[in-house]
Amino acid sequence: MQTRFTERQLADPDTADSEQILRKCVHCGFCTATCPTYVLLGDELDSPRGRIYLIKDMLENDRPATATVVRHVDRCLSCLSCMTTCPSGVHYQHLVDHARIHIERTFRRPLADRWLRGALAFVLPYPGRVRVALALAALARPLAPLLPPRLRALLALAPAKANASRPEPPRPTALAAKRARVALLEGCVQTVIAPDINAATIRLLERAGAEVVRVGGCCGALVHHLGREAQARALSASIVERLDAELADRGLDAIVTNASGCGTHAKDYGHLFRNDARLAAKAAAVSAKARDITETLVALGLPGRAPTVPPLTVAYHSACSMQHGQKIDSAPRQLLAAAGFEVREIAEGHLCCGSAGTYNVLQPVIAGRLRERKLANIARTRAAVVATGNVGCITQLRAAAGVPVVHTVELLDWATGGPPPRDLRTDAP
Ligand code: SF4
Ligand code: SF4
Repeated sequence: MQTRFTERQLADPDTADSEQILRKCVHCGFCTATCPTYVLLGDELDSPRGRIYLIKDMLENDRPATATVVRHVDRCLSCLSCMTTCPSGVHYQHLVDHARIHIERTFRRPLADRWLRGALAFVLPYPGRVRVALALAALARPLAPLLPPRLRALLALAPAKANASRPEPPRPTALAAKRARVALLEGCVQTVIAPDINAATIRLLERAGAEVVRVGGCCGALVHHLGREAQARALSASIVERLDAELADRGLDAIVTNASGCGTHAKDYGHLFRNDARLAAKAAAVSAKARDITETLVALGLPGRAPTVPPLTVAYHSACSMQHGQKIDSAPRQLLAAAGFEVREIAEGHLCCGSAGTYNVLQPVIAGRLRERKLANIARTRAAVVATGNVGCITQLRAAAGVPVVHTVELLDWATGGPPPRDLRTDAP
């Protein structure tokens, strides 16, 4: 694609990077067929190619974002299916990230939109605030029919209560058995609504012979996708600094994530801080060590199977950030099969379930349609349980799936000596 940026515009490193991305696009349109919003809405401006044109026009002409640009960029899930499909290697992820930041800088959203986005950014990265918000949501639940659609969507996604019962504590492994030292990024919302996931991850890693260093706090991904550059950089920088200190101190063999959205973001820290003289090298080192839990378990070897776990059919839902963001396909399926589960594929597996960070709150209609489509495809597998590697997908699908939706590590932990996943227990609170 021809571009017409001026020398002055290209002096800005973000614009220079976006120009390189734009020049790779050859307008072929292959990406449209696998874009969930184009598949649903059939509007070229809701396809990757259409959005690329809108973003190019906005950046090249130094224009503030218009309502049209905002509408179509907001409808993008950042699922990155287009990047998997594109034969020219167009890095749509970095382009749309740049566009979202430009939108936040130049467009004044309607008051309700500003309020909702501000509230999400104020609450979600901080577990203490999430707990308070869940308590308030429980009080507001009877009023749900009176609320606007986006607040109704938010209430529908909030668990009826914070996960009050404590997860099974990880059992320490003898230090002599350790053959790797890894950091676990514990995350933010997940620690409140699904603490069992981190507990299962730690048990699995320790059983596989790893020493686990827990690093708490939000990785920055949620607010990064809202275009809140300063907050995203501050949260990401805090994680980078702490991991860099661990790397410098006793070293780490891997930096493990168990929410694939966070994993995609951690693997991109090197890009995020590429122009930051203080953090560039540290961030690149952190990204180089970042691994999804399934990649780490394949490297360490799955611990031995417990004989008591029944054979179960498992529909594996590959989160977009897993398959398109991190390009991880075989590791989770391979581990589930090795643990004794029969893995079933979900038709249209490349299409997003509609979760996409805060998308299901901000775009509830499109998110709802994608969820229905995903659930229909899941039902066709006739599997007894759904496994996925991202807490956002679990939240999106769980309420209406008709079968338990659990994290992949919960099944792997169970199969190798841990407790059954809470949703599969008959005695679960
Ligand atoms: S990221 Fe997903 S929704 Fe956005 S343009 Fe690409 S395929 Fe479409
Ligand atoms: S597939 Fe790639 S090159 Fe073709 S239109 Fe889409 S982004 Fe451009």
